This record gives sequence, C-alpha cells and structure tokens, in this order.
Amino acid sequence: MEKLKKTNIEWKKLLSPDQYHVAREHGTERPFSGKYNEEKAVGVYNCCCCDSPLFHSSQKFNSGTGWPSYWAPIDESSVETITDNSLGMARTEVVCSKCDAHLGHVFLDGPEPTGLRYCINSIVLKLTPDK
Ligand SMILES: [Zn+2]
Repeated sequence: MEKLKKTNIEWKKLLSPDQYHVAREHGTERPFSGKYNEEKAVGVYNCCCCDSPLFHSSQKFNSGTGWPSYWAPIDESSVETITDNSLGMARTEVVCSKCDAHLGHVFLDGPEPTGLRYCINSIVLKLTPDK
C-alpha cells in the first residue's frame, strides 16, 4: 500500500489534540471512555487520519475491556503489526497500513474464527454506517 506521509505539524492541524496524542504519539484512551466501545451500528470503521477502511462492524465483539474490539481487520492489508516492548511488556502494536497511525494492540485471546483480539482506541476510528 502506498504510504501517506505528513509532518507532525500537518497532522496537528488535521487532528484534535486527543486524536493526535493517540494516533501519532502512541497514546491510549481511558477504558470505557471511547464513543465506539458499545457501538452496535452496522458499517465500516475508517482511520481518523487518512480515511482508510480498517474494521467492519461484523468483526466487532464485546470484549469487556472498555475498548472497541475486533477479531479481524476489514482486510489483511489494512493494518500492520509491530512488536512493541514498551512498558516492559512484549505486545503487538497495530498501526494503519496507509498512514502508520497508532490504533491499538492485538492480543491472542480473541474469539473464533481467528482467536485474535484487536483492541483499538475509539478516538482513531470514524464509523461510516451502511446506508
Ligand atoms: Zn490511516
């Protein structure tokens, strides 16, 4: 996928301070604070930075963690994973393939059919409901 590159100054103009903190500075929103944690609408979740489609509501499940959780991205190529050893833990970071926005982390305790749990910050997502 062709990368979308912008400077930090350009991102700051496009994003709210909270979006910038999570997407570009690897922040994490507080659990149960995000607007999509309990969202049930049918549609596509796009990246707040570049509008790329990332997840579909049919792959969303209630993990009870306080963050929107998905068992797969909308397409294998829509996200990339990176090993993250910050905070003294080996975790797998999930980023947008197109713009490298930090989205959240993926864990191995998700439901079938993948067994994966993509734990994603609401604030970096933009839901486009199906018409
Ligand atoms: Zn993006």
